[in-house]
Amino acid sequence: MRLDKLLSHTGYGTRKEVKKLISSGAIRVNDIICKKSGQIIKLNDDLVTVMGEPVVYQEYYYYILNKPAGIISATEDNFHETVINWLGPDYAHMELFPVGRLDIDTTGLLLLSNNGQLAHQLLSPKKKVPKRYVATIDGIVTQEDIEAFKAGLDLGDFIAQSAELIIHATDIEAVQSEIEVEIWEGKFHQVKRMFEKVGKEVLTLQRISMGPLWLDEDLAEGDWRELTEEEAQALE
Ligand code: URA
Repeated sequence: MRLDKLLSHTGYGTRKEVKKLISSGAIRVNDIICKKSGQIIKLNDDLVTVMGEPVVYQEYYYYILNKPAGIISATEDNFHETVINWLGPDYAHMELFPVGRLDIDTTGLLLLSNNGQLAHQLLSPKKKVPKRYVATIDGIVTQEDIEAFKAGLDLGDFIAQSAELIIHATDIEAVQSEIEVEIWEGKFHQVKRMFEKVGKEVLTLQRISMGPLWLDEDLAEGDWRELTEEEAQALE
């Protein structure tokens, strides 16, 4: 990899800023000052330092964001804050994007990564990656609803496959239910549309898991963390 590309990928600035840094003599390759932006670096063999600090190359980045309501699952948008802006400029060099989408009002687990191939695998309908949500429903979720979800629901433009629906609680006045639902697809507004089909409205929706990833109870809404090595391996 070119030296300037390595430095911009690892967060030392834009290509232009990095070129300046290189010509200032701040970079050493194997302990020798290197002023050539195009110098080819062997990632496994060469030691690059910036003012004495070793550069640590990481090809892929993975973060779990506990998405708050009000921001959108996109990299850019003219009207709303995006999940990528939310992380701030220190993360810009990672070229992260959201792996899948949550609606603007949905909260919870969103994977952010720069690994396009992994994203493709996780989102492919053929892979049937399970996603679990907790929702508050307007009305009482019934045994018939559980069975309808299990049988699959015809939503007009597609048939939602069998989904597992669990009732956690209904409130004392019996006007709302708290449920958990697991789906293996990820069509636009899928959970909301499945409930609409059985005549009920989703009031709040939170994703708590995707494949092997689970939302930590102590990760506050709006916070994020890097995946552990085990989690990143489990995704592959
Ligand atoms: N299903 C929905 O309806 N909305 C989401 O954000 C995710 C799944």
